[in-house]
Amino acid sequence: TDGRVFNFAAGPATLPAHVIKKAQGELYDWHGSGMSVMEMSHRGKEFLSIIQKAESDLRALLNIPEDYAVLFLQGGATTQFAAIPLNLCERDDSVDYLVTGSWGDKAFKEAQKFCKPKVIWSGKSEKYTKIPSFHGLEQSPDAKYLHICANETIHGVEFKDYPTPKNGLLIADMSSNFCSKPVDVTKFGLIYAGAQKNVGPSGVTIVIVRKDLIGNAQGITPVMLDYKIHADNNSLYNTPPCFCIYMCGLVFEDLLAQGGLEEVEKKNKKKADLLYNAIDESNGFFRCPVEKSVRSLMNVPFTLEKSDLETEFIKEAAKEKMVALKGHRSVGGMRASIYNAMPLAGVEQLVAFMKDFQARHA
Ligand code: PMP
Repeated sequence: TDGRVFNFAAGPATLPAHVIKKAQGELYDWHGSGMSVMEMSHRGKEFLSIIQKAESDLRALLNIPEDYAVLFLQGGATTQFAAIPLNLCERDDSVDYLVTGSWGDKAFKEAQKFCKPKVIWSGKSEKYTKIPSFHGLEQSPDAKYLHICANETIHGVEFKDYPTPKNGLLIADMSSNFCSKPVDVTKFGLIYAGAQKNVGPSGVTIVIVRKDLIGNAQGITPVMLDYKIHADNNSLYNTPPCFCIYMCGLVFEDLLAQGGLEEVEKKNKKKADLLYNAIDESNGFFRCPVEKSVRSLMNVPFTLEKSDLETEFIKEAAKEKMVALKGHRSVGGMRASIYNAMPLAGVEQLVAFMKDFQARHA
């Protein structure tokens, strides 16, 4: 092999090998410009062509209507936990949060500084293994929005469809399942995602926001968090993360070349089925705590019945070039993140290893 491993990390995460190679080929002298993308002015025609193509390819992938803005921002998804209430609410407005894992919880806690958020459902007492049924939910009558985390990266629970808020907008953190399947953008007021799982390196966060929601930020909103500033300046108000945006662009191009997100979703389902079946058919040797109907296609947490073997499992897997399988420190066990760029061969090798490990330790 060429020395690359199967990288099951949750993010930053594996990117398509041929995309990395393409970037490598263009690194020293991008398209005859005599410089790398890292070195060019963000206001020059070369970089403008890069950011415009990245945006139009993303619009094509997700079918983003014209009345939505696409912003390339910095500060990670974490910054959006604050930017969302700052841009969409007054200080005394109430908003609702569905908390299906640690990320939803973090988003809720940050919002407390800028508006009046309420947790209308939490999966905490069931260790974040579920998504609630929507019709039983009691939304606040005057809520400005309902916030969800579409895929909880640590706990591995994923919304398979979306609630329609009775009042206000639906807002989703799609950091860990962005561009992994088709999404009806029109159901949402705003979608946001850090790039570093499915679409690029860390350092850029993508916000897709309905244009009529822009322009009402609270007075205290820093310029860097004000969507209007970024929308009016096509994400070029200040120096953007140029190289990250370029890498996302290469990934978007590749996803389109694969046939778009319907095709990508098929591949993701195949990989996830393979892995969950291996877990479920292990007679309890491996376990996944997440309710079957809401298991994530992207992040697969699992444990060993004989938990004292987990360190050994992770160590042996690493020897066979399957790395970063340790679960998040808050939940323990293992977690295999199998984003778009994880090849089927990586999941097949992991499943073969799991069967072999079980045969040796059962
Ligand atoms: N939301 C989700 C679902 C995430 O997985 C993460 C990062 N793991 C974040 C938010 C925070 O993202 P960032 O580190 O880019 O701020």
